[in-house]
Amino acid sequence: MKKAKEVAERKCPKCGKTENQVNVGKNRSETQRCFCKDCKKYYTINPKTREYPEEVRQQAIKTYYAGVSGRGMGKIFGFSRANVYNWIKNGSKPAK
Ligand SMILES: [Zn+2]
Repeated sequence: MKKAKEVAERKCPKCGKTENQVNVGKNRSETQRCFCKDCKKYYTINPKTREYPEEVRQQAIKTYYAGVSGRGMGKIFGFSRANVYNWIKNGSKPAK
């Protein structure tokens, strides 16, 4: 069985930083545990979460701001508006 590639992006769910994030082993379900050195927060990375390339995210965020409906987003990108909303909430911003 091919092992899924681990999610490269470690991001603190509390402060949203991607720097100063360290791996601190795995829990029983093989989920990568991380630690934010900045705010001392432990969190896990869900390997089931599908990561989209930055390019796709940017497009989706732009589309989101253009006011496309959830259904429209689904049709264009194959994921929901809520998904995009989460990225925005987590600090993704549209490129200029
Ligand atoms: Zn943090």
